[in-house]
Amino acid sequence: MHRRITRRDFINGVAVTAGAAMMPWQLLAIDTQAPEKSPGYYPPALTGMRGSHPGSFDVAHSLRDGTFWDAAAKPEDTGEVYDLIIVGGGISGLSAAHFYRKAIGGKARILILDNHDDFGGHAKRNEFRINNTFRLGFGGTFSIESPAPYSAVAKGVIEELGIDVPSYSKFLDKDVYRSKGLRSKIFFDKETFGVDKLVTNFNPRNGGESEDRNPETPQLLREFFADAPIAEQAKRDLQELYDHPKDYYPGLTSDEKKAKLARISYANYLTDVAGVHHDIVKVFQAMPHGLFGVGFDAVAAQDAWGFDMPGFAGLKLDPAPGKGMNRDAIPNEEAEKYFFHFPDGNASIARMLVRKLIPETLSGHTASDIVLAKANYAKLDDSSSPVKIRLNSTAVRVKHLGNPASEKEVEVAYARGGKVYTARAKNAILACWHVMIPYICDEIPDKQKEALASAQKVPLLYTNVALRNWTSFQKVGANSVYAPGMYHSGVNLDLPVSIGGYECARKPEEPIVAHMMKAACHPGLPARQQHSFGRIELYTTTFETMERKIRDQLARTLGPGGFDPARDIAAITVNRWPHGYAYEYNSLFDTFWLEGGETPCEVARKPIGRISIANADAGAYAYTDEAINQAYRAVNEITKA
Ligand SMILES: Cc1cc2nc3c(=O)[nH]c(=O)nc-3n(C[C@H](O)[C@H](O)[C@H](O)COP(=O)(O)OP(=O)(O)OC[C@H]3O[C@@H](n4cnc5c(N)ncnc54)[C@H](O)[C@@H]3O)c2cc1C
Repeated sequence: MHRRITRRDFINGVAVTAGAAMMPWQLLAIDTQAPEKSPGYYPPALTGMRGSHPGSFDVAHSLRDGTFWDAAAKPEDTGEVYDLIIVGGGISGLSAAHFYRKAIGGKARILILDNHDDFGGHAKRNEFRINNTFRLGFGGTFSIESPAPYSAVAKGVIEELGIDVPSYSKFLDKDVYRSKGLRSKIFFDKETFGVDKLVTNFNPRNGGESEDRNPETPQLLREFFADAPIAEQAKRDLQELYDHPKDYYPGLTSDEKKAKLARISYANYLTDVAGVHHDIVKVFQAMPHGLFGVGFDAVAAQDAWGFDMPGFAGLKLDPAPGKGMNRDAIPNEEAEKYFFHFPDGNASIARMLVRKLIPETLSGHTASDIVLAKANYAKLDDSSSPVKIRLNSTAVRVKHLGNPASEKEVEVAYARGGKVYTARAKNAILACWHVMIPYICDEIPDKQKEALASAQKVPLLYTNVALRNWTSFQKVGANSVYAPGMYHSGVNLDLPVSIGGYECARKPEEPIVAHMMKAACHPGLPARQQHSFGRIELYTTTFETMERKIRDQLARTLGPGGFDPARDIAAITVNRWPHGYAYEYNSLFDTFWLEGGETPCEVARKPIGRISIANADAGAYAYTDEAINQAYRAVNEITKA
């Protein structure tokens, strides 16, 4: 726990605290004007504070604060003219380039701008070398999955990239953990529950990224009751919820009951309607963190019913989804089967899209050979390529050069390496975060700006901890730990996927990546407010503090298995996403979602002259398929206009 703080910590911790607005490249003395061309430029291998890394957001925040243009130098005209400029190099922006080329042809000249030092947006790749073993981790987007089935358009892209989703089971070694008796557990912490204790998880579906779908709830419940440090009354109440379901709303129709459930949080439903002991809420509270970035204090009981949480069987509800249900909460068998996880998550999708757009960047041509292909960042922005991806470049102004209704060109100004440049194009697609758009596009009507600004992002940490071995996980019998009271509410050993020559860890003595997830929420407040406070929290917490929390959590959870953070942790990459998931509408706080009518995302995504708007935010749906769907719509708007 008291290991010396290293250079890695300096880059990611101290430099941030000192308010430095530097990219890692500046600290590493790489050419700051064209860092991507330097031989040492390889963002996936950087550890420490990643995601929205230091230096990636300063320009955007200064635009927000109204200070950018006061300090900025006069924009320099690059003289570049494109068919299309795309702001945002996430899956939506990359898909937009792909669709545009399909519509216009392979010679279409496209410039993609992104403020980060790597492409992919949330779909980021983390690489580690631990004791000469190569390990991958996902820095954001985990897998191909969606609560509702992928659209024909989104499926089409997945298939064009050569990903055979039904073949996933071929790559997953389901028995790696199970054969060693590892399963999902709950860590009770002394600050919340009075004692540190690791206990069987009676509800493994809600334990995180586990593949475990153990239906033996009664047996698991018995084990849980035997060890869980919660009140005896809470145990009796939970057993009652399962064994003797009650109708808490007698005399109401199913629709009337659903209407009530849509307006009360699951936490309040449990304590105020079902009358159970508060300890149950404490155990359940963080279960929806991975989906919504908030706990059950801010998730409707109707959605909890959709997730099969206890307390609803006695209501005898009609199984059809109720009005105002979150789409994540509506079970769909077809969607559940459509799942594929690459070792670097959907960064593989981003990388395959980049390979299609600029073949010189990545070798190979299949969904398997992408996994070990090393990207050549020097080729992303090459004068000989019709498609260019310009990283470390924040778009600061997007405008028509005349009247948006009749003008034939759009000018995009972007900040890069302390200077401002301009380029022109026939069209622009804003595939960036919607909250950013009002600051860069003045031409948008006020009502639309308001709708764009309401697209709150969900603040999250996706932390990858490179471990020299996982013997301590084996000794405590867990591969997945739900920790409702801890800084990160989940710890999961990597899904054991081997593909394209990449081999997962099979023996506990081998290095592995453990994934930890934190939702920066502030229980008790409306969801949007929780996200605002959480965003500030993530931007202002140093890497050093996060590292201490990570080491403390792993030491307390795995200590009984012999875990020693100083010895067993080889590296830590915190993927900080203060602007994480797209905000999904919530029946507790968004009355329009219950009442019907035009939603803010429909208002927000209207085109303005030659400028169209994409990103997963445009569908208020935090999934890759939506990022693709919205790109398709945006491209259609400009190509079919
Ligand atoms: C931690 C995390 C885990 C997720 N897991 C999953 C999952 O497992 N499955 C799934 O389907 N979805 C998942 N998602 C949802 C994910 O957001 C979508 O899948 C999809 O990747 C979003 O793509 P996008 O292009 O719309 O947005 P983004 O990936 O956010 O890309 C937008 C890009 O625009 C950039 N940008 C913003 N403003 C500017 C500017 N002014 N100039 C230049 N660039 C700018 C941003 O920095 C960003 O790089 C996850 C999201 C997060 C945050």
